[in-house]
Amino acid sequence: MIKTNRTLADILIIDDDNTVVMALNKALNKIGRIRFASDAKQAFLMIEERHPDLILLDVELPDIGGLEVCSILKSAPDTESIPILFITSHTEVGFEEKVFDVGAADYIVKPLKPRVVAARVQTHLDYSLAIRLLEKQAHTDSMTGLANRRTFDERLIVELERARREQEPLTVAILDIDEFKKYNDHFGHIEGDDCIKNIALALANSLKRSTDLAARYGGEEFAFILPNTDVEGARILLSGLLKSIEQLNLTHAPEAKYDVVTISVGYSTVIPEQKYANDLDDWAVVKAADHALYESKQNGRNQLSYAPLGSI
Ligand code: GH3
Ligand code: MG
Ligand code: MG
Ligand code: MG
Repeated sequence: MIKTNRTLADILIIDDDNTVVMALNKALNKIGRIRFASDAKQAFLMIEERHPDLILLDVELPDIGGLEVCSILKSAPDTESIPILFITSHTEVGFEEKVFDVGAADYIVKPLKPRVVAARVQTHLDYSLAIRLLEKQAHTDSMTGLANRRTFDERLIVELERARREQEPLTVAILDIDEFKKYNDHFGHIEGDDCIKNIALALANSLKRSTDLAARYGGEEFAFILPNTDVEGARILLSGLLKSIEQLNLTHAPEAKYDVVTISVGYSTVIPEQKYANDLDDWAVVKAADHALYESKQNGRNQLSYAPLGSI
């Protein structure tokens, strides 16, 4: 069982009936910070301003019907995961199905019983928090806190598509710690893990744009996705990074070529017209970056190499 953190949740009540709103507020004010909207228009504005953790929704609103509001929220990527519970006095045949058809998590029938409302709301809040936690864990490397390989793969597809749409360049870099076997052999695996964590932190700190991604690609190998970054921009960023890794001054094993821990880097840049003109697959940029990394290693390590897309 996942432990969920019961901090005060943000709950939005969308209902035009004041007595219902007051009853819900009383039932839920220990569970969450409550906000109210009396029609759909106001509700959409409030949701945009701050995402609620859960929504209680009336079926009949003065402007758009509650079922439609639910459909709209469930079809937008930004709001689709917010649990929506209907408040209704409808008991006719087929109504339950309609509510679940539009993506609601549950529905509560009037007259409202405060303890039942609170229990149902808490269950759905716990459930959605647990899902968010699992999602996060599934996309994070637990040792370094960086994105994991799965996130890298998913983001690459999304960012390549964006680069194509916006006709912007995109750079992928692969980074590997130099002579790390010697580090482990000399200092031991625990120290080795600490070294990987230190390098990971420096890599994360080297990226300034919110759209950049640093991932742990495998053991002591990392990968960057740098949207909207051309060959020259990437060269400046990555050569600065080589220096800052050296400046971490992490003592290497005596058998290693350099006194301090260094990394080797390979990168390649997608220029959209070129990629599509040559009908290259999505992984061509990763393969080219990997090939460039191999060249950096061959040429003596602690350096940066570039390989043009489709060169291998
Ligand atoms: P090169 O400069 O050619 O990259 O030499 P290298 O010794 O670093 O060679 P390679 O990249 O092939 O080997 C990586 C080593 O890193 C092998 C493995 O024992 C070690 N390693 C991989 N993952 C971990 C990890 O999570 N923790 C520790 N301590 N070591 C790891
Ligand atoms: Mg109403
Ligand atoms: Mg290595
Ligand atoms: Mg390696």
